Amino acid sequence: MSNKKLHVLGSGTPQPNKERWGSGFIVELDDELIMFDCGPASTYKMIQMDLDPRNVNSLFFTHHHSDHDLDYPTFLLTRWETSIGKEKKLEIFGPPPTVSLTEKLIGLDDGAFAHDLIARTNHSLSLNSFQRRGGKLPRKLPDFLVKDIYPDEKIERRNWSVKTTLAEHVQPYLDSLAYRLEVDGLSIVFTGDTRPCETVKDLAYGADYLVCLCIALQEQIDGTPEAEYMMGHVDAGTLARDAKVSNLILVHEALGISSENNFKHAVQEIKKIFKGSVIQSFEMTTYDLTEN
Ligand SMILES: [Zn+2]
Repeated sequence: MSNKKLHVLGSGTPQPNKERWGSGFIVELDDELIMFDCGPASTYKMIQMDLDPRNVNSLFFTHHHSDHDLDYPTFLLTRWETSIGKEKKLEIFGPPPTVSLTEKLIGLDDGAFAHDLIARTNHSLSLNSFQRRGGKLPRKLPDFLVKDIYPDEKIERRNWSVKTTLAEHVQPYLDSLAYRLEVDGLSIVFTGDTRPCETVKDLAYGADYLVCLCIALQEQIDGTPEAEYMMGHVDAGTLARDAKVSNLILVHEALGISSENNFKHAVQEIKKIFKGSVIQSFEMTTYDLTEN
């Protein structure tokens, strides 16, 4: 089996600090990159990690809280602007309002960036630099596949599939999904933001990797809405145990859990519940994915 990797772009919360900000992940396969969420500065972090946005062919949004999608216009416009027309078509999936958000950003009628698209597909300055980097005129407008998706769907491509399930987060204001990617016998589940729930447990059952929300130490959120609509370390460990996954990768860490001592404490506690490996994720860091 060839090497597969998880690149962590964002492993924080809406509140930025020097180490963490928002959510964003890329699974690297042999010849393509699959992205999950596009939180603040994802494109910048991608470049810092030598990941080319033009090689991202698929983007999945778990939900549309801004810490999961704030870099979406940057990613879309950077990928399009640097393209020469030979890249694979970009496919974007997510719960509503994925389609309407995209239209509001790059729709030609009154999208927020329509002026940029019109200028770059018409003025000789942009047409010339497009040709200089290998493009052939006419310069085409973005042609992305954008789809709203729902729980219990399966998206199948040549060498991978992605299953969706309901994640319970801040409904009815925002729909939320968790995803299970299967490729070459390897399974990796992204919980997105959710409280512990049966649907996510079922989706994650037996997975090699569970990339799991862990906002704080449990005792830091007891009695607060975070305990009701997100997950602390005990929730994450319990989900990993009940779903019988092999590796638990904790993401979406607020300052209260990300310090060395607090995380050590979290791991000691989780180990009492869950026997697999527990990994603290760091931003702009790459993890090898192996089948268990
Ligand atoms: Zn959220």
